[in-house]
Amino acid sequence: MDAPGNAPKSPQSQRRPHLGIHFRCCHVYGYIYKNKDGTAYSGRCPRCGKPLKVKISKDGSGSGQRIFQTEPRLRPVQ
Ligand SMILES: [Zn+2]
Repeated sequence: MDAPGNAPKSPQSQRRPHLGIHFRCCHVYGYIYKNKDGTAYSGRCPRCGKPLKVKISKDGSGSGQRIFQTEPRLRPVQ
């Protein structure tokens, strides 16, 4: 955390917790951000705008970022 010289000038935007998400509905990557209550990450698919919510478990104390995938709902049926 103490990195004088390398620290960006906008600490607020950097500190915002977010999650990398693979939206399976559109096969695109995007980010969702922690809600104000800190209980979940919420956001929308950048393409279709489908809302997504990922609950935050108490064990995951913000140790790094994880890539989540949305549930495989829209699988191609052949
Ligand atoms: Zn989508």
